[in-house]
Parts: sequence; structure tokens; C-alpha cells
Amino acid sequence: MEEIKSYDYSIWIGDNLASKLNFNTYSKIAILVDENTRKHCLSLIPKLNNTIIIEISSGEKNKNLKTCNLIWNILLKNNFDKNSVIINLGGGVICDIGGFCASSYKRGIDYINLPTSLLAMVDASFGGKIGVNYNNYKNQIGFFKNPKQVIINQKFLSTLPLDEFNSAFGEIVKYALIGDSKLWKILIKNNIQNLNLKDIIAKSIKLKNAIILKDFRENNERKKLNFGHTFGHAIESYYISQGTAILHGNAVLLGILYELEISNLSFEEKTAIKNYILKNFQLPDLPKKNKLVSFIQKDKKNVHEQVNFSLLNGIGNCTVDNLFKINEL
Ligand code: NAD
Repeated sequence: MEEIKSYDYSIWIGDNLASKLNFNTYSKIAILVDENTRKHCLSLIPKLNNTIIIEISSGEKNKNLKTCNLIWNILLKNNFDKNSVIINLGGGVICDIGGFCASSYKRGIDYINLPTSLLAMVDASFGGKIGVNYNNYKNQIGFFKNPKQVIINQKFLSTLPLDEFNSAFGEIVKYALIGDSKLWKILIKNNIQNLNLKDIIAKSIKLKNAIILKDFRENNERKKLNFGHTFGHAIESYYISQGTAILHGNAVLLGILYELEISNLSFEEKTAIKNYILKNFQLPDLPKKNKLVSFIQKDKKNVHEQVNFSLLNGIGNCTVDNLFKINEL
């Protein structure tokens, strides 16, 4: 197993999941799953003693306090004490809500992430941002609190729906563009099916981890991770306003298309990035910019009515706090 050290915990990548699942020190264990990860992933992890399974319904719409009540009630009913642990076996929704419930139960018990979606492997399972949606606003209630351990095993990905798998490349492409020109070269030279996935996952984790080790609370460096996300979030909100939805990674890929235009890149670089995205991903329609303005005006990063972008300064390089007036976009 390859070890990537983050603050006071490790992110393990490899096939020997069992070697890292040693929970003798915990009094009780809850494994949090949704119906899909219960069906496809639970049987892939070794049997553990003193364990209960908590199943919640899948999907972003269930990442809320109502589901937390359900989880906390089960922990209380089963006499989980301060020395117990929650293992989050699932995608980003399970990691976010499981981390939040653990960190608030009895003022905080440990949580361990076993991400099963590509997006959770490369992004949501580490970095310490945990929380839930509130009144239809994303991630409004939550903490910064790190997991005790993250164990990444790509065998879970064999059952992940293809659109979920492809959409996670929104974040992987972003990592390459903001900080790893070598990763970018690997991406553009290979079809997605031919990539060495373990290598791509490890490179992505190392890049995000290096950034958050410098700036855990997003005062400066961590803002780089927002590249593609200002337009991306506006695109997500636009789709919701139309009564539909778009996968987050797909919204980021579309957001990158707009944010390229205001980045400091040569014409050839912009064209190469645009062509790569359009050729490799089947994306929903890109909403016209004027349809996105009202959503961008509400972006939580805005300062003094100016929109705050993280933008490219060449491929593999990103600058933060680039302020634009709405009419300059
Ligand atoms: P998700 O957790 O909803 O998973 C996507 C779908 O795939 C779900 O239906 C799930 O049941 C299913 N699934 C997951 N693994 C599977 C497997 N191995 N086999 C079959 N089905 C499987 O969504 P996601 O894309 O993993 O994560 C998105 C969430 O992550 C959002 O809520 C987002 O806000 C959050 N997020 C958090 C951070 C962070 O730093 N905390 C970062 C990025 C995203």
C-alpha cells in the first residue's frame, strides 16, 4: 500500500485493504453505506467485530440534517460511546455526512473514509471539509475536521456508473491545469480508458494534499482548488433552476471552458484545453453566460460585489483572488 501523509493521518492507496482495517482499539464500529454501496461494496471489505451497518438513501438530496438525525439516533440506540468509530463506505455524500455526524456525536468520535466513487477518491474523502446541505444551499453546515485514516482501493470502481466515473475527471483535469503540467501531458496523450488509474488517483491526491498542507482553512493557496468552480457552481445552480441537475464534475468541466477565457493563457493553450474537454467528455449544454450572471452574483467568494476567480497563469500554474466586475466577464 502506498502511503500519502496528510496532517496527523495517512491516505493509503492499494489493493490490500484488509491490512489497514485494524480496529481493535474501538469499542464499536458503524459502517455507513447507501443502498448502492451496500449492494456493491460492503462484501468487498473484511468482516469486522462489534459492527453495525447504517444505511441511508443515496444522493445529494439526502445530504441534510434529517439524515443526520437518523444516523445519530442509531448511534445512540446502539450505545455508541466516545471510543467508537464510523467507517464511511461510499461516495462524497457518505464521506461528507458521515464525517459530519461522527465529528459532532458526543463532541466528536473518529471517522475513517473508504471512498467508493472516483470523485471521493481524488477529492471528497480527504482535506477535512465535512458537512451537509441546509435549506437547499450546498454545504452550509459543517466543520473542518480530518478523518483518522483514508483507504483507497480502486476495485470499488468496477461498479460505479460510467457517467459518475467520467464526471470525476472534472476535478482531475482541474488538478492537472492548476498544478501539474506533467499530469496534463499524460491526460492529453491518452484516452481515459487507457490511463493508469492508480497513478492518476495518486497524482491527484498528492496535488490536493500538498495544497491543503500549506493552507488548511482556505485563506490563500487552497483557493486554487476553486478554478473552474465559480462558473461551475453557477452552472449547477442554473440546471437546478431549470428543474434538472448536472453532475458536479461535468459542471466543473463546463466552468473551465468559461474560466479559460479570462485566464492568462496563449491562444494555443486555450484551444488545446477546450478541444481536450469537448473531445473526451459528453457534456450537457453549456448555458449562455447571460443566464449565469444572477447565480455568479450570489457566489460566496464575491468581495465588494466583485467576483473572485482562481485563474490559470499558464498550464500547471494558478493564481488566486482575481477580481472581476460582472460586466467584465
Ligand atoms: P455520491 O456520493 O452521490 O455518489 C454518486 C453515486 O454513485 C451515488 O448514487 C452512489 O450511491 C453511487 N456509488 C458510489 N460508489 C459506488 C460504487 N462503487 N458502485 C456503485 N455505485 C456507487 O457523489 P460523489 O460524486 O461521490 O460525491 C459528491 C459529493 O461530494 C457532493 O455532495 C459534494 O459536495 C461532495 N464533495 C465534498 C468534497 C470535500 O472536500 N468534502 C469535495 C468534493 C465533493
